[in-house]
Amino acid sequence: MDNPLLQFYRLPPFSKIKPEHVESAIDYTLDQCRIKLKNLLEGTKDYSWKSTIAPIDDINDRLNRIWSPISHLNAVVNSEELRQAYNACLPKLSEYTTELGQNPKLFRAYKSIADSDDYAKLSTAQKKVIDDALRDFRLSGIDLPTEKQQRFKAIQQELSKLGSSYSDNVLDATQAWSKHVEDPAFVKGIPESALAVAKQTAEQKDLPGWMFNLEFPSYLAVMTYADNRDFRHEMYDAYVTRASDEGPLSGRWDNKENMDEILGLRHELANLLGFTNFAEFSLATKMASDNQQVMSFLNDLAQRSKPLAEKELQEVKDFAKTSFQLDELKPWDFTYYSDKLRQHQYALSQEELKPYYPEPKVVQGMFDVVNELYGLQINELHKDIDTWHEDVRFFEIKDGSGELRGQFYLDPFARPNKRGGAWMDVCISRQRTKNGIQIPVAYLTCNFTPPVGKDPSLLTHNEVITLFHEFGHGLHHMLTKVDYLNVSGISGVPWDAVELPSQFMENWCWEREALDVIAHHYQTNQGLPEELFRKMTAAKNFQAGLQMLRQLEFAIFDFRIHSEYSPDNPIDIQKTLNDVRDKVAVLKAPPYNRFQNSFSHIFAGGYAAGYYSYKWAEVLSADAFSKFEETGIFNKKTGSEFLTTVLEQGGSREPMDLFVEFMGREPSIDALLRHSGITQTD
Ligand code: ZN
Repeated sequence: MDNPLLQFYRLPPFSKIKPEHVESAIDYTLDQCRIKLKNLLEGTKDYSWKSTIAPIDDINDRLNRIWSPISHLNAVVNSEELRQAYNACLPKLSEYTTELGQNPKLFRAYKSIADSDDYAKLSTAQKKVIDDALRDFRLSGIDLPTEKQQRFKAIQQELSKLGSSYSDNVLDATQAWSKHVEDPAFVKGIPESALAVAKQTAEQKDLPGWMFNLEFPSYLAVMTYADNRDFRHEMYDAYVTRASDEGPLSGRWDNKENMDEILGLRHELANLLGFTNFAEFSLATKMASDNQQVMSFLNDLAQRSKPLAEKELQEVKDFAKTSFQLDELKPWDFTYYSDKLRQHQYALSQEELKPYYPEPKVVQGMFDVVNELYGLQINELHKDIDTWHEDVRFFEIKDGSGELRGQFYLDPFARPNKRGGAWMDVCISRQRTKNGIQIPVAYLTCNFTPPVGKDPSLLTHNEVITLFHEFGHGLHHMLTKVDYLNVSGISGVPWDAVELPSQFMENWCWEREALDVIAHHYQTNQGLPEELFRKMTAAKNFQAGLQMLRQLEFAIFDFRIHSEYSPDNPIDIQKTLNDVRDKVAVLKAPPYNRFQNSFSHIFAGGYAAGYYSYKWAEVLSADAFSKFEETGIFNKKTGSEFLTTVLEQGGSREPMDLFVEFMGREPSIDALLRHSGITQTD
């Protein structure tokens, strides 16, 4: 066999993997997985961890380790051929996953282990693997009587159709509107970079001048910078009425029926599985314990943030009035005057900070920070490392006792055919195998501006934060000491808790003591001047109250429509939204605003009754960091406690238990409110 994907490798042979290897490797591996699984389940009725679960983990690990480099290469060195091969594999993989979730023999095997005397002898992590698996089997409807099971499947299919119809409507409505202009006076205020894009859009239609559309960057540029108020108004109306019964395209692609049906079916689906409503179903796999807890969490944050938000809004109104003689601040004025106010108050551009963040020194500084915190040594390896691009570097992490804990690839710079954004992904997961511990390996991918000439790449402060964020995910994946595939590292961590280690790391980017380690001028090696540091911290919390309330408005709306639904009294979506706005929003939306008709996160994405997770994770990370604020941000004892109670435990225990073990109490919203400047520092 000369397919490099099918050779047994530890680190993937990236340079040898070609598009033509992809599909055949996946076909072959999926066949092997099915055969092995069948033999395993039919060979015995005497199921145990050793005879059943360990071999199943091996089967799935093999598949993961072949698929991981393929999907990674598709993201970072994309080509037409590779994308085709990748896309051809996607339905095959999802079919296999569905098969596993719906396999009654597999379900019975897990169940019989859970019911056996051996279960009590298993470790906490092993028990969690079995409990999680049984929970997911049940949530996939496998335990239902035949009739209900059929209905369950029918609902799932219907929901998936409605979801795509919803997002198709949003997409079509977004693309249907555009504004073509030729008069330079009309676009006054809009920066060159946004105009260049608008010019290109016009050129693609063989038109002179500029063309604006409802894609978010185009919309945001107009709302933030266009001096022409009527233009802002026109665009605002088009944007907030997409896929609805209002606005310039009213009635075309209206999502109202889709939304009503989606809510009804979600409710029925949850009922079939024994939950009172869909919100309860959503929480079955999350850290938050019940509806009540989520709602009081959100309401509490809203109540505490509202006074500041009101003050911030008044500031914008006053500023617009005194400096620009604006009588009444309308929704299409808010972003525009807010930006003017921000410039007026802080006069700080990201450009000023960049010389202090040369990429190589920031990366080294970040390693020094985690060395201080957790006693980790991070070294670059050069020998015999096969990568996909010359920019990619490879590192290993050793702990204080010299033990190898993890390894990672760092691919820092933007280039053609590389997906945008930044992320951490899994290359190899930690688990105990016949040959000992399998060391975890991660990919850290960013899209920083590449170096020009002899000068290093200079990062913005936001990019530094991004790097720390992704490295936080990486440490969670790599520092785990759990030996079982489905709960080691980030596996098995509920998604309202998975952002804790990443957002937690961001805190160091705002601390003087840490910036002294991270920031050095690329020419003079000088640290960040005190004045810049002060400006940077002051600008950090600009309109923090308003931003907080906006996110809470979405989260409360999402949670209420999924928890208050009842078949006799189906939810009136608009009425609920109005009510949420009355109670929460400071900046009032006009009555024709149909934001909900394009809220794809919850109607077409995975965030249904889960939008609160964003704030939830922020609270956890801010709160955990407050212990470092109290004991010193480089306190080794606190660092080692965070390492052993959170990072090393992965998904092997309930995140609330881990949090309580670290903090000595349940999470509190105080630290987040303080960090956001919503309450004053003591
Ligand atoms: Zn993240």
